Amino acid sequence: MKIALIAHDGKKADMVHFLSRFRDILEKADVNLVATGTTGSHIEKSGFEVEKLLSGPIGGDAQIAAMAAQKELDMVIFFRDPLDKHPHEPDVQMLMRICDVHNIPLATNPASAELMLKSL
Ligand code: PGA
Repeated sequence: MKIALIAHDGKKADMVHFLSRFRDILEKADVNLVATGTTGSHIEKSGFEVEKLLSGPIGGDAQIAAMAAQKELDMVIFFRDPLDKHPHEPDVQMLMRICDVHNIPLATNPASAELMLKSL
């Protein structure tokens, strides 16, 4: 089981808090985590093992989309910040589209991510 994690800057604290709440589920399900660079650093500091890719704006979202297209991911949790602008918005849209193309569960806020993790 591999889950990809991405959080825009305004949502990184939410991501760390979210993962801490579900640490037990993640450990029991033997989940491997992969994340965009800066999100990954935050997650690592809170005690999780995580594979870090490039930072989102320089290609990290695109790397996660490539993994999704190659069926290497079981789930994507992407806490987007709808109140901010992002230079890599095209990559964000592309990642969400690829998840839909390949029917990969995608949660873009903590409430939906919670439902997905509880299904593990
Ligand atoms: P980051 O990328 O984890 O490197 O900040 C996330 C994003 O904004 O896509």
